[in-house]
Amino acid sequence: MLGKLPVVRYVSTRDSSGASGRPFCHILLEGLAPDGGLYLPESYPAVDDEALERWRQVLRTDGYAALAFEVTSLFIDDIPPDDLRAICERAYAPEKFLDPAVAPVSQLSDGLWLLHLSNGPSAAFKDMAMQLLGELFEYELERRDTSITILGATSGDTGSAAEYALMGKPRVRVFMLSPQGRMTPFQQAQMFSIDDRSITNIAVAGVFDDCQDIVKEINADAEFKTRHRIGAVNSINWARLLAQVVYYFAAWLQIADDGRPISFAVPSGNFGNIAAGHVARSMGLPIHRLILATNENNVLDEFFTTGVYRIRGSAETQETSSPSMDISKASNFERFVADLVGRDGERVAELFGVQLREQGFFDLSEVRAFRDQLETHGFVTGSSTHADRLAQIRRTHEQDGVLIDPHTADAVQVARSMQVCGTVVALETALPVKFAATITEALSIDVPRPAVFDGIEDLPRHVVEVGRDASAVKELIAAASV
Ligand SMILES: *Cc1c(COP(=O)(O)O)cnc(C)c1O
Repeated sequence: MLGKLPVVRYVSTRDSSGASGRPFCHILLEGLAPDGGLYLPESYPAVDDEALERWRQVLRTDGYAALAFEVTSLFIDDIPPDDLRAICERAYAPEKFLDPAVAPVSQLSDGLWLLHLSNGPSAAFKDMAMQLLGELFEYELERRDTSITILGATSGDTGSAAEYALMGKPRVRVFMLSPQGRMTPFQQAQMFSIDDRSITNIAVAGVFDDCQDIVKEINADAEFKTRHRIGAVNSINWARLLAQVVYYFAAWLQIADDGRPISFAVPSGNFGNIAAGHVARSMGLPIHRLILATNENNVLDEFFTTGVYRIRGSAETQETSSPSMDISKASNFERFVADLVGRDGERVAELFGVQLREQGFFDLSEVRAFRDQLETHGFVTGSSTHADRLAQIRRTHEQDGVLIDPHTADAVQVARSMQVCGTVVALETALPVKFAATITEALSIDVPRPAVFDGIEDLPRHVVEVGRDASAVKELIAAASV
């Protein structure tokens, strides 16, 4: 297609200068924009019926990686197409996933669909984004002939997904902090069994917030940060979001042969997964409703019901049986609000950079047509309790012999209780084996585990234990640099 080269530029959600944005590879390694906002494409590329029909064929004949290339190439114009195709093929190589279809769908007997996103190496949906991010990082670092030190904090799923995606990449070193003894035994085994010179697991004597504080403290030391080229793979990275857009298309292409709109129920924490659904819908994918499911930590459900977004402190954040959704502040939410207020950068800066920081909440309930706006964007929300999740795990097992994890059970609970008409797809975000104790609580059975995970608890553990002390972590980073 001569003369139709797309130009895609990224701008900060807080930008009001009207200056032109940056190309993809510029923002790839950057994370936050310099003004504290998050990057978004200036506009979302539109996908028409013809493209969707072509993609249906692409997915059928060439598989998930080929579809990932089609979608991502609409957002990335500074990597040559052949290179981007190869990146997608490495990221979504069928042999890395428990199911070669990568993101297959299945239907339960009550009509609800499941989109299986946890077939990757760490058994949680974060692999879907992290695998692509790992390949993009390696490609761009190679092109710039440089390296990076990834410093992160995890309460479970992010850390293992990052490590499985980044291990063996010569230009990336990883230092991953986790709260000592707080992850499930399976999650600990997954991370600590990795035997790779470039990966350092650090167990901190504290809780997740202590880990995050250490990361923040180290990042605040500008000299140290520059010297060791400290970077992050956190959930605000646009490339992670982009990778997730692909599976919304994949689900629709597999389910809606007739072109009908379908709805998605998404177990949400940092609003990354469902933000990708919002992007897919904005591009023209026929999505009827985006059903946002939270657990007892219902900051997001509250916003969509009242118009007030009030973040919580860690003391107000409950530990639940769907721990990857135990958030008090949804780090990707700013992207959706930017669209909600019509990309008014000044407004977003005021809401997130001033009101939220100074008073801990903002209130959009008075905004004219707030309800209409939510309606326009297709959002409906609900939340689940521990008892709800146990009940859905039981019901799904009794009806269909299918085991779902407690995060997926959040989505299934809200999907089944909301009475949204038409086809509904619940996103499966982790394999049950990752959260076996809750499954056993619901069903009194041992959770079967895929053969690849056999015996991981017995492998030698690679982990360094430290106190709640940033200087100990700095020493580890510095020692590894010589
Ligand atoms: C991270 C995670 C979620 C929440 O996804 P967000 O993108 O943060 O909304 C849900 N379930 C599982 C298993 C996760 O690991």
